[in-house]
Amino acid sequence: MLVCIVAVGSEMLTPFRLDTNSLVITERVNAIGGDVRLKAVVGDDVQELVRVLTAAAEWADLVVMTGGLGPTEDDITRDAVARIMNVPLDVDPRIVDALGERFARRGLTMTENNRRQALVPRGATVLDNPNGTAPGLWIERGRTAFVLLPGPPREMTPMLDAVIRDRLAPSAGGAGLFRRVLKITGRPESEVDAVAQPVYSKWTAQEVPIVTTILAVLGQIELHLTASANAREAADRALDGAVAELQTVLGSSVYSVDGRPLEAVVGDLLRARHLTIAVAESCTGGLLTSRLTDVSGSSDYVERGYVCYSNRSKMELVGVPESTIREHGAVSEAVATAMAEGAAGRAGTRVGIGITGIAGPGGGTPEKPVGTVAIAVVVDGRATIRTVRLFGGREMIKFQAAQAAMNLLRLTLASA
Ligand code: ATP
Repeated sequence: MLVCIVAVGSEMLTPFRLDTNSLVITERVNAIGGDVRLKAVVGDDVQELVRVLTAAAEWADLVVMTGGLGPTEDDITRDAVARIMNVPLDVDPRIVDALGERFARRGLTMTENNRRQALVPRGATVLDNPNGTAPGLWIERGRTAFVLLPGPPREMTPMLDAVIRDRLAPSAGGAGLFRRVLKITGRPESEVDAVAQPVYSKWTAQEVPIVTTILAVLGQIELHLTASANAREAADRALDGAVAELQTVLGSSVYSVDGRPLEAVVGDLLRARHLTIAVAESCTGGLLTSRLTDVSGSSDYVERGYVCYSNRSKMELVGVPESTIREHGAVSEAVATAMAEGAAGRAGTRVGIGITGIAGPGGGTPEKPVGTVAIAVVVDGRATIRTVRLFGGREMIKFQAAQAAMNLLRLTLASA
């Protein structure tokens, strides 16, 4: 199934708005074996849209359009589709009634322009929009099916899912692309690829082929595995085997195979062990606590976070001895450990983390250059300590420091 996606709306031709709907559409149609060959963003210009649709109709089996279905003059999607089909637009009285009721329920009177939303190219099927006013449309011409979906993502996605379920998936017969993502941290991309590439390169030629791509994002590496199969069961079997093989060669640096972010992985480890945590942060300025609390339900295990940026606050808030700072310097394993112990001690938790480092761009020395970060994880009084050297700008160093601290916590808990 060859697919073309057309996003309609002049705002997406400005520097201020991005077409994100096409990403969701691509993911959903890939999952049923659709092959997206072209994406276009077209402004609110009916002639331009007619040109694009005419060209797409020559080769595409499916054209998915989003946006331009609203009530105003610049909502031109219906008109363009009626033109290329060479059919008139009829008023659908059921849509007029449904719109009238929707407005009445909210105590509003429907303005005349809303009737535009009830115009349907002759021969089209109307798709319900439970989350908004503009209904979607399905219409076929020759081998090509055109699906018209609203622009707002919260209206578009449920309608797309219904179209996939009711109209497209049944004829796809279960075939499609199936994906898994392995998330890895604590190893550089080149090293991960050197280890993984000999393993995944042979999968492209097997019965259920799997294509693997490596994606380096800040502080982590992702391996995306895409299997193309005639049925989900066959894909799952092949992908389970592939994931297990990669886990064997990559070991404990793989922290997630089910999409969970690192903060959720460490949260689950803490919860499963009935542990609570207190964090003392210097160079990350609260970022670690913030990320830990990005996970809903984190109140089960996050007790508190101390931001101790100055030396005075390290002494006052978590009881780091002045002599430790004087002897070892504020950025040192000794201070990180005292911060972790002090945080856990004052908060009454079994787990404490201390982070102290130089986020830059100033403040580096030959012995402790910018990017030097000391991290301590204390569990029941036993400390695990690391000093890492991170690269990049200030924000990147802060993010990677929080990432490294969570990873050290994960490895400590997993081996405890
Ligand atoms: P409405 O009934 O709200 O007018 P519509 O189908 O006419 O629906 P548009 O007016 O084109 O949709 O877009 C409404 C809003 O939806 C836009 O301001 C934008 O925020 C969002 N939107 C539209 N198209 C996209 C897209 N391709 N990706 C992400 N967001 C989009």
